[in-house]
Amino acid sequence: MDVLDQAELPFPESLPEFQRLFPNDAACAAYLEKARWREGFVCPHCGVVAEPFRIATRPGILQCRTCRRQTGLLVGTVMERSHTPLSVWFWAAYLVASQTQGMSAVQFQRQLGP
Ligand SMILES: [Zn+2]
Repeated sequence: MDVLDQAELPFPESLPEFQRLFPNDAACAAYLEKARWREGFVCPHCGVVAEPFRIATRPGILQCRTCRRQTGLLVGTVMERSHTPLSVWFWAAYLVASQTQGMSAVQFQRQLGP
């Protein structure tokens, strides 16, 4: 199942589910994108609402189809200047969120957010 196909952002309830939801960095980037733009990507540079280009070799970077400027999903987060793979950050955030009572997608996103 594609993360982007779900109306609500999922929160993995178990390790197998985590691995299914976030098999790679691209899946993690897609989750961050969905968390930021629930209604779909809005270019912060020109304001156009449209599917951006995604760069396969650089998960977390989106490029506007209209103005061609790039937007970093990780700007302002702990992941911004790190060379650690997104999937590792996601795992760490999952562990922290799952230590807290009433773990939820919201807490999970807080771990990953700016
Ligand atoms: Zn733009």
